[in-house]
Amino acid sequence: MPRTILKVAVDVPLRRLFDYLPILDAGLPPVGVRVRVPFGRRNQVGLVVGHASHSELSQPQLRHAEESLDATPLLPPGVLELLRRAADYYHGAPGEVFVGTLPGPLRAGRPAQLRTPKAWQLTLTAPSVDSLRRAPRQAALLRLLEAGAVAESVLDQALPGWRPAARILAGKEWISRVAARGVEAACHVAQPHPDLNPAQAEAVAAIGAADGYAAYLLDGVTGSGKTEVYLAAIEQVLAQGRQALVLVPEISLTPQTEARFRARFGAAVVVLHSGLADGERLAAWLAAASGRATVLIGTRSAVFAPLARPGLIVVDEEHDSSYKQQDGFRYHARDMAVLRARIEGVPVVLGSATPSLESLAHGRSGHYRTLHLRERAGTARLPRLELLDVRHQRMAGLVSPALIAAVREELARGQQVMLFLNRRGYAPVLLCHACGWVPKCDRCDAHYTLHRGRQLLLCHHCARERPLPTNCGGCGVRELIPVGAGTERIEADLTALFPDHRVLRVDRDSTRRRGALDEHLSAVRDGHADILVGTQMLAKGHHFPAVTLVGILDADQGLFAADFRATERLAQVIHQVAGRCGRGEQPGRVLIQTHQPQHPVLHALLRGGYSGFASALLIEREAAGWPPYSHLALLRAESIKPQDAQRFLGATLSLAQTLGHSGVDLLGPVPAPMPKRAGRYRAQLLLQAPRRAPLHALLRAWLPELEQLPLARRVRWSLDVDPADIY
Ligand code: ADP
Ligand code: ZN
Ligand code: ZN
Repeated sequence: MPRTILKVAVDVPLRRLFDYLPILDAGLPPVGVRVRVPFGRRNQVGLVVGHASHSELSQPQLRHAEESLDATPLLPPGVLELLRRAADYYHGAPGEVFVGTLPGPLRAGRPAQLRTPKAWQLTLTAPSVDSLRRAPRQAALLRLLEAGAVAESVLDQALPGWRPAARILAGKEWISRVAARGVEAACHVAQPHPDLNPAQAEAVAAIGAADGYAAYLLDGVTGSGKTEVYLAAIEQVLAQGRQALVLVPEISLTPQTEARFRARFGAAVVVLHSGLADGERLAAWLAAASGRATVLIGTRSAVFAPLARPGLIVVDEEHDSSYKQQDGFRYHARDMAVLRARIEGVPVVLGSATPSLESLAHGRSGHYRTLHLRERAGTARLPRLELLDVRHQRMAGLVSPALIAAVREELARGQQVMLFLNRRGYAPVLLCHACGWVPKCDRCDAHYTLHRGRQLLLCHHCARERPLPTNCGGCGVRELIPVGAGTERIEADLTALFPDHRVLRVDRDSTRRRGALDEHLSAVRDGHADILVGTQMLAKGHHFPAVTLVGILDADQGLFAADFRATERLAQVIHQVAGRCGRGEQPGRVLIQTHQPQHPVLHALLRGGYSGFASALLIEREAAGWPPYSHLALLRAESIKPQDAQRFLGATLSLAQTLGHSGVDLLGPVPAPMPKRAGRYRAQLLLQAPRRAPLHALLRAWLPELEQLPLARRVRWSLDVDPADIY
């Protein structure tokens, strides 16, 4: 039978492929090509993922695809295979997997090519730069063009915000826009770099010796020079004419990381992350696909970007939770990176100072080869960790007298200090001193957080805002007091305590404006701040050589969280924050404030470092049957009517019991940890299995039936395979 049916992944959140007849009077579009297909009364963009000889639909029901959007496959076979396996493993909707992971313009059906790159050059009537003294940006642009035409992509890098100036100059006919033929290949001067130390050299050699697929866990303490290892390993790959893919966590993709790669590899580097405009994303994606760019640095979704000649995959800070996609197609980019390396037959390097327990377990079982960097590179030494017992102490807000003294001492020596608290806002609760009234979000089971700078109450769970009340909503009295502290309050407290020093806060609120994070980070590096107060954001990969004291204000917060990953996360955060300290000439010190100085978790962390601690934690996980010693899937549901989510999950449970679920425990349904959020009632059902195969067999049989349940249309539900959080 000839294969004349197209199997198409259509960009809709439905868990199936759709059948179409080929385009009339045209050949069969190959697998990997986008097609426009009729869908209901409209049309949709889809990707051809297979051909079949017959369809379950009868001929009259089948419709023809309307047009083919690509002449040749958009994705190489390796990426198609990766997406196929990903759709299967995560039980995702094919459209979300195959089309949803494409850059926006391609999803929208636009052509997979760029408009001709453009450049700017001076016209014959251009005046001298000096005559533009009162318009510095225009003058800077003219100066850049004096030596000849410059490509727009180069101007983007060299003179951010150049476009308005160009418009004015073009209006005066002093400059003009021309096609960029070749001007883009900006010259690149390789920067000098340190000689690798023996541990680094050994790691690079091991990676270079890989013949085809091999997975490496680069377990190196903070500041041990992991990035230098990536750079050297990439150099080897480029020398063979192949490409490297580097995944980085969301936040650490600051110009600092990018700059380091650019300094080494110049124009060969392209970046791909959510902060880019659509056109920029498409340009980077196409450059990687064509092989013009040889180093692709990107966040999570870049793991699905095509490479013409893949040679190496690197996952930096592999433990970072931003690698997990939390909605739609819920994949884990680190796991996808390993799968991709296997499919493409290339080595993959997972690097971290605080590896995930999953990766450590793979290291122990021999799936991954572990490469250690046990010491800091250069002269820097690892900081000393100490517990600060704050019981009975007279605190200045959340800061103990001992910590204040340590801060004072460090500032007197001209060093920088960093204080870490994983809670933004001014105070987590506002309370009426007269009657006890607390303003709560009416859409969530949560209190409003007080944001004093922005003069509002903000729900951190649904983003609802309301104006700051002056009087109590219960008794009307004017005695509202903030309870507890977030980073904004710590900033205020420290400013009051150290009026002669500059306090800088770095959190999601202080970095909302585009570019603000980079400004803050350079302010720290240039010594324009003495005390940094911040959240997780400060913990990620930054290199601040003058920071010699880190204070962790509230370690207890992480000790009592319900999630089985909470202690792992606490240990990672403590080590990562600590790792920002003592990276220069001066040694560093880390003070951890706690009301639980005897707590075994904190002791294990101080005694055994991260690796000793992780070993203890792995034993616990094994005894309790949690991942990496079992496999989880979480079915979540939320509904407008209070009982619907629970009832739906109850029905899915009966369904599973009918189907039989040997080898899989079903736990629940139970209300979600926050039973109401953004106006919806939430519940969950956890599936836990010692082995993966029975879990996936159950999911495969269960999901198609579950979709047919009458309640499935009244609730919003989702399946999360390998969930990051279960509470
Ligand atoms: P990591 O990625 O492990 O945190 P980095 O690669 O950022 O570490 O290195 C930390 C610092 O040490 C950087 O300033 C880097 O330039 C420096 N460094 C790295 N390797 C060496 C080396 N072999 N000799 C001297 N300095 C080094
Ligand atoms: Zn009151
Ligand atoms: Zn809310």
